[in-house]
Amino acid sequence: SLALYRTYRPGRLADVIGQEHVTVPLARAIDTGRAHHAYLFTGPRGCGKTSTARILARSLNCEQGPTSDPCGECGSCQDLAPNGPGSIDVVEMDAASHRGIDDARELREKAMYAPAASRYKVYIIDEAHQLTVDAANALLKLIEEPPPHLRFVFATTEPDKILATIRSRTHHYPYRLVTARRLQEHLAWMCDQEGVPYEAEALALVARAGAGSVRDAQSVLGQLIAGSGPEGLTYADAVAQLGFTDAALLDRVVDALADSDGPEMFAVVDSVVESGLDPRRFAADVLERLRDLVVLHEVPEAADQGLIDAPDNVIATMKEQSARLGLAQLSRAADLVSVGLSELKGATAPRLQLELLMARLLLPAADGSEA
Ligand SMILES: [Zn+2]
Repeated sequence: SLALYRTYRPGRLADVIGQEHVTVPLARAIDTGRAHHAYLFTGPRGCGKTSTARILARSLNCEQGPTSDPCGECGSCQDLAPNGPGSIDVVEMDAASHRGIDDARELREKAMYAPAASRYKVYIIDEAHQLTVDAANALLKLIEEPPPHLRFVFATTEPDKILATIRSRTHHYPYRLVTARRLQEHLAWMCDQEGVPYEAEALALVARAGAGSVRDAQSVLGQLIAGSGPEGLTYADAVAQLGFTDAALLDRVVDALADSDGPEMFAVVDSVVESGLDPRRFAADVLERLRDLVVLHEVPEAADQGLIDAPDNVIATMKEQSARLGLAQLSRAADLVSVGLSELKGATAPRLQLELLMARLLLPAADGSEA
């Protein structure tokens, strides 16, 4: 089976996707000899914190370095290559399972020894918020006055839980969710590398399923590629496999709303249920479409500005829809669907809830603001 995450694991800072606000200054610091001795990488899971920590270690320990562009050929570079065997001098520790004072004391003791074969001994402490206060305090002195061979990287999804005394002694880099556009570029690049043809609309869905995480997007892409035929990744396959609502259904419901076409609204609900689509998923997708229409109404250049991510033909359709419905009706519909969506959570009769929601959408606004 295809593990894209392993195949396309980055080995240089420049290859980390969508975190340039971290990787560019970090590369400069390394190349100018101003790298700090302790870093704190925070942010959502799957965005490259641990990958960057490993790359930092590789960059610091390259025999030609420290350099942001490790040579890839020296012993250290090969040991620390993506999917390489690792180095005895680069220690990854999961604080979730080594959170106590004894672990911290042991680390403190071992850290004092010079590295076996490298320039630096690097400790990568993942899930660092899990360290107990005692353990964190035991490390504090080491972080305050480290021996010259020692480097630390703390990584965590929960920066607020990191002891302030540790935080203040590190250089802190917050990671971000990767934008859908950037994810799509990366997905397209991987498809090209794999020789798999694709429809742009399919990749847009994969990026959406990835929800800002490169790792999750890669995993979804791997699944779709594994199940794809000779025509590659098609929108139809992606929409079916990922359980998103087909854009055609969303067009129908929005058009029915604009036309106050009751029979069509209920026909759409019937299609949703008959096709086995989760009514909650459908309502969430309708809400997202309404959001896009509101944004398009207010910001005609939304697509160019990256506020909306959809292929050009879909944008054109949505522009028509948003002009037909108008801001008042769009905004009111979005409110209704938003409330309806929370009612659908845990509903025992989701079809019924969805039908009642459609009925509410068809009612004219009480203040008579609509034609
Ligand atoms: Zn090297």
